[in-house]
Amino acid sequence: MSEDTSKLLAALGDLAGRASAPRLRDGVASLVLDVTGLDATERAGLERRIRAALVAIPEVADVRIAMHAEKAQRTIIAIGSGKGGVGKSTVSANIAVALARMGRKVGLVDADIYGPSQPRIMGNSDRPELVDRQIVPVRAFGVRMLSIGQLIEPGTAVAWRGPMTGSALGQLMDGDWGDSEILVVDLPPGTGDVQMTLMQKWKPAGAVIVSTPQDLALIDATRAIDLFRKMDVPVIGLIENMAGYECPHCGELSDPFGTGGAEAAARVMSIPFLGRIPLTLPIRTASDAGIPPAAGDGEEAAIFLRLAERLLEEVNLAAA
Ligand code: ADP
Repeated sequence: MSEDTSKLLAALGDLAGRASAPRLRDGVASLVLDVTGLDATERAGLERRIRAALVAIPEVADVRIAMHAEKAQRTIIAIGSGKGGVGKSTVSANIAVALARMGRKVGLVDADIYGPSQPRIMGNSDRPELVDRQIVPVRAFGVRMLSIGQLIEPGTAVAWRGPMTGSALGQLMDGDWGDSEILVVDLPPGTGDVQMTLMQKWKPAGAVIVSTPQDLALIDATRAIDLFRKMDVPVIGLIENMAGYECPHCGELSDPFGTGGAEAAARVMSIPFLGRIPLTLPIRTASDAGIPPAAGDGEEAAIFLRLAERLLEEVNLAAA
């Protein structure tokens, strides 16, 4: 090791772990910095500290830092539904929060161009920052989150065609997801441009379909499942939402949309049935208040944690 290199490494102290090939030539200190897994703010902070440490050496007049990051291996899980209003966004948000509670590093992408609702469900309507032409996700309940709703004015009718949809999706998917290992993508309902583009360009590890138990919702869900299968995206499983309603006054159980339909449909289609979420007032009120029930400690949180566990099991199985 040259004398100059030792001098630079000594000045860096415990920052040296991420630095390699430090050199000093004509008063210019240069090095390569490994920024794998760091987000824009962390990168900028590290760069600042390194500069400060190096310019403190009398021979150093200038500092050049080249950044290098390993491309992160991310598991993309798409959450789809045959039609709107079945609770796909609610399920996406709560699964993301449950995964984060299980210690996973999770990002949530709200790609529902017709009704982006994650800023409301996750209780964070902050505008994300743009750093080096990359959008930096906001954070809520331990989850990094980007929504198409953050890119457009609230209430703007979105009537985009293919290329615009693709570029908006690209901005979200290629945001600065830092060390997120799993990206949960809340898709628009049905089988349109966003689904096709996501599957072609980002190749999800699998797709989860959310359906209510009614026949009509299930017929639509079957179409979504067909599309994923045709595009070689494994269907991780089906979740039945709004199954069974417990009256908050008398405790009587009723089934506004029937029950068990999704489980039977999953069996017929030979896809795993991941679980059932009841129709409950706490899920609706918590979601509307921007506090996903999965972040709490009630009965609902336990349901979403179990679903998230099942989902991970199936993804690992699918990957085996
Ligand atoms: P989608 O994304 O399929 O259009 P949302 O997730 O936006 O559906 O849900 C539609 C409405 O239903 C929201 O008001 C949400 O709070 C409510 N909701 C979803 N799932 C449940 C549930 N299991 N119990 C009670 N309300 C629910």
